[in-house]
Amino acid sequence: MKQNRTALALILGCTLLVQTFAGGAQEAEKKVDETKARAKYVFLFIGDGMAVSQVASTEVFSRAQASKDPGWNKLGFSQFPAQGLTTTYDASSIITDSASAGTAMASGKKTMSGVINYDPSKTSTYKPITEYLKEAGYKVGVVSNVSLDHATPASFYAKVKSRGDMYDICMQLAESNVDYFGGGGLARDKGKKGDQPSAIEAAQRNGFTFVNDNASFMALKPGSGKVLAVNAVLQDSFAMPYEIDRADNDLSLADYTAKGIELLDNPEGFFLMVESGKIDWACHANDAAASIGDTIAFDEAIAKAVEFANAHPDDTLIVVTGDHETGGMSIGFAGTKYSTAFDLLSKQKGSYVRFNREILEPYKKAHTPDNARFEDMLPKAEEYFGLSFAELSDAEKEMVQRSFSRSMKNEVERAAQEDVYLLYGGYEPFTVTLCHLTNQRAGIGWTTYSHTGVPVATYALGQGQELFDGYYDNTEIFHKLAAVLGISVEAAVAAK
Ligand SMILES: [Zn+2]
Repeated sequence: MKQNRTALALILGCTLLVQTFAGGAQEAEKKVDETKARAKYVFLFIGDGMAVSQVASTEVFSRAQASKDPGWNKLGFSQFPAQGLTTTYDASSIITDSASAGTAMASGKKTMSGVINYDPSKTSTYKPITEYLKEAGYKVGVVSNVSLDHATPASFYAKVKSRGDMYDICMQLAESNVDYFGGGGLARDKGKKGDQPSAIEAAQRNGFTFVNDNASFMALKPGSGKVLAVNAVLQDSFAMPYEIDRADNDLSLADYTAKGIELLDNPEGFFLMVESGKIDWACHANDAAASIGDTIAFDEAIAKAVEFANAHPDDTLIVVTGDHETGGMSIGFAGTKYSTAFDLLSKQKGSYVRFNREILEPYKKAHTPDNARFEDMLPKAEEYFGLSFAELSDAEKEMVQRSFSRSMKNEVERAAQEDVYLLYGGYEPFTVTLCHLTNQRAGIGWTTYSHTGVPVATYALGQGQELFDGYYDNTEIFHKLAAVLGISVEAAVAAK
């Protein structure tokens, strides 16, 4: 009997928890009814791969530039008045990918990793918030600094059984009635083999004004109609450059956000989703300096929305969140115990991508595994990463030398090495080792080259901000946004 009671208590306890999470939507609506909070200008900023560590490392770095004393320089968005923690698991895993996480936030429902706006069985589609908003007369914008057919932005306008169906995503972009697309390019504009009709041309036939140079972008004015704005400079996989690699005359994520506000602003209201997609990419590659640079740029983009909110305080809501954590980034590394030296990261000249492109790859092209010399490359690596080889331990020196010779060998030889994945992920052995050493000396540790399952933080400012306090699931972000925007959650559920 006692056993049964315990079992019952456990079941009741679990039921209660499940009800609390499942009841979040109604809770959200109830709270909004109480506060009467409504916003007709709503921003959703998604830092891809951005959880507490990515934000905190940026804040510690910023402080370390100015002072040796321990401390924290807060970013703008991390001072937002409402803050919560958000779980990110999906229908297939505790560790989500960007497709299912994007779907959860865009449509309020779980799905399998890799799936965009389809249910877990891939038989019925979900309706993203942007569709509801277009029906209700809002204008809608989707901005990302990675390619616009990537999983996160796609979750706000496309429905595909696999995020890999990127040409399909591109054609759905072309056929969509999203008012403003801005940032990266289309990775599969003409399909995987480049032999399909151009999605960009299809978009133009569907009424989009297409621009891909700075002057045309700056000249865009309200009334230009639907806009597809692709950055003039694309770095890797049709993405805008990392902030630490960005030239002064290149457009930034803040520029694309400001233009979005300018083009979308209208009395009926708008919804603008802005993704910073390369925080994730930097963390996959375990490159903290690149992650920090992009997190600062993300904050600058969010500041554009805060300016708008200050001018429209009664009608605006800004929500900032991440879709998951990437890299298992932590402040603290076994080799440096309780010390950190984040100022060392400022010595790194650019991202791992730029090092590969400008230094390692040209050297590899000009040499064979036999005539490549570590001594040739060492000064360039020291200069780029701000490392002094002479100050490394013998074990670290050996690690760098071994990674160099592995980078010089071809992929097949590298794949044969058992420890290759744990040491380098899928990345250039030499470059990722230099990133690791730079990060470790600063006091940053990494556990993976993939995503992790830790919760992300969610920050909110403006009308209905209080809904974003607490500990809730990523699907609730949709319901909370829908409530503030005045979209019926019942209708959203019926659309299953
Ligand atoms: Zn992601």
